[in-house]
Amino acid sequence: MAPLIELLFLLLPVAAASGWWVARRGAPARRNRRHPPHPAFLRGLNYLVEEQPDKAIDMFLELVEVDGETVETHLALGSLFRRRGEVDRAIRIHQNLIARKNLAAEQRGDALFELGQDYMRAGLLDRAECLFQELVGLGLHRQRALQSLRELYEQERDWARCLEVAELLDPASDPSIKVAIGQYHCELAEDARRCGDAARATTRLSLAREADPECVRATMLEGRAALEDGDPQRALALFMHVAEQRASYVPEILPELIDALRQLGRDDVPAVLEDLAQRHSSPALTLGLGDVLAQSRGREAAMDLLTRYLSRHADLAALERLLELQVEEPSQGEGLNGERLRVALDVTRHLLARQAVYRCEHCGFEARSLHWQCPSCRSWGSVVPVQPEPIIGEEVLHERRLA
Ligand SMILES: [Zn+2]
Repeated sequence: MAPLIELLFLLLPVAAASGWWVARRGAPARRNRRHPPHPAFLRGLNYLVEEQPDKAIDMFLELVEVDGETVETHLALGSLFRRRGEVDRAIRIHQNLIARKNLAAEQRGDALFELGQDYMRAGLLDRAECLFQELVGLGLHRQRALQSLRELYEQERDWARCLEVAELLDPASDPSIKVAIGQYHCELAEDARRCGDAARATTRLSLAREADPECVRATMLEGRAALEDGDPQRALALFMHVAEQRASYVPEILPELIDALRQLGRDDVPAVLEDLAQRHSSPALTLGLGDVLAQSRGREAAMDLLTRYLSRHADLAALERLLELQVEEPSQGEGLNGERLRVALDVTRHLLARQAVYRCEHCGFEARSLHWQCPSCRSWGSVVPVQPEPIIGEEVLHERRLA
């Protein structure tokens, strides 16, 4: 839709309100008759035709008197402009509303909240914060204002203030709040660890588990801290607990888990990983087990494992590793055969580099590194390692083609 036509379409509610305004002021007997357009409305249309939308908006704002019955029209128009990305215009409309003295408290609350959203969208976070705090103080739109403050502090990565606000929210109305509280404590624990304050980090991780007993990130961080602090036994127990809490995250702690087993002098590393891989097949777990097998039982054992795995999973990372092992074989990696293998390896690496490693379970956002908060839908703990697709047998494929 051309910008001019689109704007005209957006202003239809105002035009309708203008007709109503004219009709309302006419004699009761004439209300059902057709009325000529208000001159100011025609001037507004003229500005639109001349592609001067800001003057057109000024005209409409002047035309449609703000009272109890036209506030909704102004709010709808402001919200439409914000959704279209025209935040400056949305701000003007909402500021115009707030400047009116005749607004009811609830309507003023609506306008303040919308203006706060405009400021958020425009990146004017200080102004948005003031408005949301004012709403919380007034007890208007309290839950929504607190949620917006939480989003705002998340943008600023001010985890302490995120916590303050989240603890005022009612977890019964939104179960994701306790998940977010657990993640804020984890963020603060990581900050503390970076500053060398191990005691404060430990306290934060306890609080994370208290808020969200299923917080797998807290378990992972506790395991890593235990390993760094020279306690591989405790680290191993925590890493094994990660598999119970959320097996899809095991690949994230696999190198540390193998390290803990080795520090403990365990000679059953392949058996532990095989057991984990049986419970949860994943690319990284299979690759980790393959590397351990290559070291402990030789290249052939690793290639057997990868071949068995690849017969069931369309996994490029495992295929890359299998081809690497094949190329490294002295009898295979030379001559024409070696050249063919290297071409296959190059193609596999090329495809692998374009493949997403993580995906958000909520919105499908894809990434190549782990984000605890999805950058797209902003939900916490929803970005997980991508699982390979199962290989579909020829018979199933044939049936599908017939269907
Ligand atoms: Zn998402």
